[in-house]
Amino acid sequence: MKHREKGWAEPLRVEGMADDHTHILSLPSFAKEEGIEEISLEKVLSLSRDAGVEEILEVACEEKYFRDAAKFAQDHDGVYYALAIHPLEALKYEKAEDYREALEKMKKTMEEFPKKLSAVGESGMDFFHAPPSTLPLQKKALLDHISLSNDLGLPLQIHDHLAHRQVLEALKEGGAKKAVFHSFSGDADFARAVCEEGWYLSFSGMITFKNASEVREAFLAAPRDKILAETDAPSLTPAPFRGRPNAPWMLGYTLRFMGDLLNLPASEIAKITRENALKAYEAWR
Ligand SMILES: [Zn+2]
Repeated sequence: MKHREKGWAEPLRVEGMADDHTHILSLPSFAKEEGIEEISLEKVLSLSRDAGVEEILEVACEEKYFRDAAKFAQDHDGVYYALAIHPLEALKYEKAEDYREALEKMKKTMEEFPKKLSAVGESGMDFFHAPPSTLPLQKKALLDHISLSNDLGLPLQIHDHLAHRQVLEALKEGGAKKAVFHSFSGDADFARAVCEEGWYLSFSGMITFKNASEVREAFLAAPRDKILAETDAPSLTPAPFRGRPNAPWMLGYTLRFMGDLLNLPASEIAKITRENALKAYEAWR
């Protein structure tokens, strides 16, 4: 039985989009768990391409997806990849050596598949899902990822959930060079502070949420050459489809919303965010 009200929503076609943060490898199993229409990775890609998505940055931040993400990117045009140990994943390792082993495994995968490796990420801090007492461990993992991204000359994609100040401090302490705040959730002042460092803000469907007025203000305060767009699928589905699963072919709704905020057509925001992504991610050029 299909649950239509829960299932995949219709694509919104916008010419020339780039989704700079998504987790499509998890969509097939997500669909099964949710009891909605099953979907293959090939189908996800073809629907996304038909909707106008030209580039997808697949982010694998759990050990089990590292190799699959790297290989998936090698085999598909327009698909790129990023790897990291997510801050909440880093907290799951009981022994420090297990965490270090996972980090080594991640680096080996990156060395084996240098083509299409676009970023290190997502790393950062999360004090929404984890208590303040985890700060030292989360910070240690973030600093490891900062030095890796600097060594590789790649941008670091940041996960910052109720951790703006702590993340910014750690990035400065670790001497981070290139960074992209994924699903930016700060206010206008924080947006300005991040952009002053030369870093990027990637906006997700969150910008369409009723209670996200701060994020909208941040978007309006951000320099145009620092904004990116992402889905973070299967999470953060844009309005009016909250409660349904997200997918890269839904990016058009977020771009249309962003365009409305600036009185620009969705295609123009798609162009701006895609050009910025091409600048931010060397591997895409
Ligand atoms: Zn994500």
